[in-house]
Amino acid sequence: METMKKLIEVYASGSTHMVGDGFPVRNIFPSHDLTESISPFLLLDYAGPAEFPPTDRPRGVGEHPHRGFETVTIVYQGKVEHRDSGGNSGTIGPGDVQWMTAASGVVHEELHEKEFAKGGGTIQMIQLWVNLPKALKMSSPRYQTLFHTDIPQVDLENGGSIRIIAGEYQGLKGPARTFTPVYVYDVKLPVGIHAELNLPTGFNTGVFVLSGAVMVNRSQLVGEAEMALHDPQGTQVHLEATEDAILLILSGEPIHEPVARMGPFVMNAEEELAQAVNDYRAGKMGHLD
Ligand code: MN
Repeated sequence: METMKKLIEVYASGSTHMVGDGFPVRNIFPSHDLTESISPFLLLDYAGPAEFPPTDRPRGVGEHPHRGFETVTIVYQGKVEHRDSGGNSGTIGPGDVQWMTAASGVVHEELHEKEFAKGGGTIQMIQLWVNLPKALKMSSPRYQTLFHTDIPQVDLENGGSIRIIAGEYQGLKGPARTFTPVYVYDVKLPVGIHAELNLPTGFNTGVFVLSGAVMVNRSQLVGEAEMALHDPQGTQVHLEATEDAILLILSGEPIHEPVARMGPFVMNAEEELAQAVNDYRAGKMGHLD
C-alpha cells in the first residue's frame, strides 16, 4: 500500500548572507541543523532573485577550495561562469546545472558570466551540497555540466512540469551521475495544479519553494524560501499550487556516518578537517591558472 511521507516541519530560511560579492543567499540548512534528517544533503543556499547593475568586473566568489562532497549549482535566472583547478570550466544559464564532485579536493571560482555582468540583470540560483560516503571522500574530483536540453521533462496533465535532474520520475532518468541514490527535481506548478510524487521509502525528503506557494500533503501551506521536511518513511508527497510555484524537490538515501564540517570542507572527523586545511595550504588541491 502506498503511504504518505508525513510532513515533519516547515523551515523558513535560517540565515541570510552574501556569498562573495555576487550571491545574496537565504540558507535553509545547515543554519537549521538538519544533519541527520536531510542527509545526504549538506547545504541549501537560495541566491536571489537579485538585480545587479552593469559592471566590467564580474561579481561572485573568488578562488576557494572544497573537499569531501559535491556542489550542485542550478541556475534559474542569469549566467554563471566556473573555473577549477582540474582544468574544468564552463558557463551555465537558466535551466542548466553544474554538478561538481570535489571529493579529494578542488580549488575553484564561481562568477557572474562576463557578458551577463556587463549588461547587468537578475541572478536566481540554488547551490546544494551533497555529501559523499567516507569511502569516496578522497576519490578523484569529477565535473558534470547538465545543460537544460539534457534534462528530461515530464509535462503534467493540466499544466506545469517536472524536470528530472537526478534520480527518476515515472521511469524517466535524470542525467546526473551520483555516488549514492539521490533524487533532484525542478518542478513548476501553476496555481491550482497538483502533482503526486512517488519517492523511495527510507529516503530523506525536502520540498523547497523558490517562489509562489504550495499546499503540501493537503494540510500545510509552504511559501517562498521555505522548505517542508518529510518523514523518510512512506512514499508519497502530494503538492498543490495555491500560487504559481517553482519548487526544488530533494530526496536521498541517508548516509549514516559522522559529519565534521568547517567552511568549505566536510569530512567525518576533526583530524580530517585539519588535514584538509594543511593540504589546501600546501597546494595539494591545485591552483587556478
Ligand atoms: Mn564553491
